[in-house]
Amino acid sequence: AQESLANIKAHSHLNAFLHIDDQLTLTQARMADDMIRAGTATALTGIPIAHKDVFVTQGWRSTAGSKMLAQYKSPFDATVVDKLLKAGCVSLGKLNCDEFAMGSSNEHSAFGPTLNPWDHTAVPGGSSGASAAVVAARLVLASTGTDTGGSVRQPAALCGVSGIKPTYGCVSRYGMIAYGSSLDQAGPLAASSNDLVDMLDCMSGFDERDATSAVSCRGEPNASGRIKADYRKASNAFAASTVNPLQGLRIGVPREYFGEGLDNEVAARVEAAICQFEALGATRVSISLPNTRLSIPAYYVLAPAEASSNLSRYDGVRYGHRSESYTDLADMTSKSRTEGFGAEVQRRILVGTYVLSHGYYDAYYLQAQRLRRLIAQDFQTALKTQCDVIMGPVAPTVAKQIGANQEDPTADWLADIYTLSVNLAGLPGMSIPCGFAPGASGKPLPVGLQIIGDYFDEGRLLAIAHQYQ
Ligand code: GLN
Repeated sequence: AQESLANIKAHSHLNAFLHIDDQLTLTQARMADDMIRAGTATALTGIPIAHKDVFVTQGWRSTAGSKMLAQYKSPFDATVVDKLLKAGCVSLGKLNCDEFAMGSSNEHSAFGPTLNPWDHTAVPGGSSGASAAVVAARLVLASTGTDTGGSVRQPAALCGVSGIKPTYGCVSRYGMIAYGSSLDQAGPLAASSNDLVDMLDCMSGFDERDATSAVSCRGEPNASGRIKADYRKASNAFAASTVNPLQGLRIGVPREYFGEGLDNEVAARVEAAICQFEALGATRVSISLPNTRLSIPAYYVLAPAEASSNLSRYDGVRYGHRSESYTDLADMTSKSRTEGFGAEVQRRILVGTYVLSHGYYDAYYLQAQRLRRLIAQDFQTALKTQCDVIMGPVAPTVAKQIGANQEDPTADWLADIYTLSVNLAGLPGMSIPCGFAPGASGKPLPVGLQIIGDYFDEGRLLAIAHQYQ
């Protein structure tokens, strides 16, 4: 723990950690030590990790990358934080992210951007940018992230690490600062898919404090009678099932994922990875997900709508930032929000409030819900009749330069094209590194391969990824 803390301080230029506290970390390290001595250690005991600042933590501040919560300390731990602590993980602190997880580059953090460890002039992706950067820089072995529209998979791809967004409902959202509640899902990032197995095993499971927690997770009933997925078991069973576990696996490759906007070099790396899977015994099937392009308008109506509702709790009264000078209650709320929220968050609240308002609801929100259904149906048609998993790119390009899209806030939104639909459908998706392509500064930057599976098929996804890695 001491070595990790020193290493983090030596890499403070990455601006990845928002809050470290030596004493808290050392206490957790002693607890892990006690577990080892007592013979109660798990696969994760003593493993150095760190949490995206969207998970609330007792002790460390929980800011969600926002000035609004700059001094906020939670009276309880998020379920995910609690589970990893009980397994013996040692937390090194809280990780920078786009404000309230809104963004794809970490540039929308109120505390400045995190740098990509491969090229300090490039973004690490987002919104879980620092969660990916700290694993890439080997400051921790694993980290937590959240993925509403790609925020685990895209930074994992841009930093060359592995990350998984599980099926909606697999991991408890209790204690996760909300963005778009019907899309938000927590997931781990680590150096390899094999490491993700143990992380996800620990993080997942039914939680009665999350109303959308999935009781139908595949797996054995646990002691309390609740169903708990066992990814290690599923992953090992898949790997052991035949001599070559990839033999006969049908990989669906969506035509819509290889069209306009995809960088040639990125396409070549993804194509090479799919060829590698074929060489290992899998079969390629060309599929169509015809409504893919509609995922951008659908998501950027639904996510801001939910965000505008979720963020209404920051009113300057209950908690968070309160303006120092105001005339009356309405003025206090207005000034507190104007000062506390950054530009991107304000933009989303405006869009969200607009699409939910009387007279516009039917035209925007309701229509977007219909698109969401069509997008989910596309995946089901493919996964039920044509293929076992779907593969394609995670992002259309490698990490952009910091500040590159400053003039056009919607340019980043368009780059979410390959990840948003997975959240809209609630499916599991992961990103694994599949090579490098030249970045704008000339340095090579990582490329990610996305693997999408059917509901609750995380065990197999992780095992498939492990065959490649
Ligand atoms: N880039 C997307 C957005 O800005 C996704 C972010 C996320 O998954 N949290 O909303």
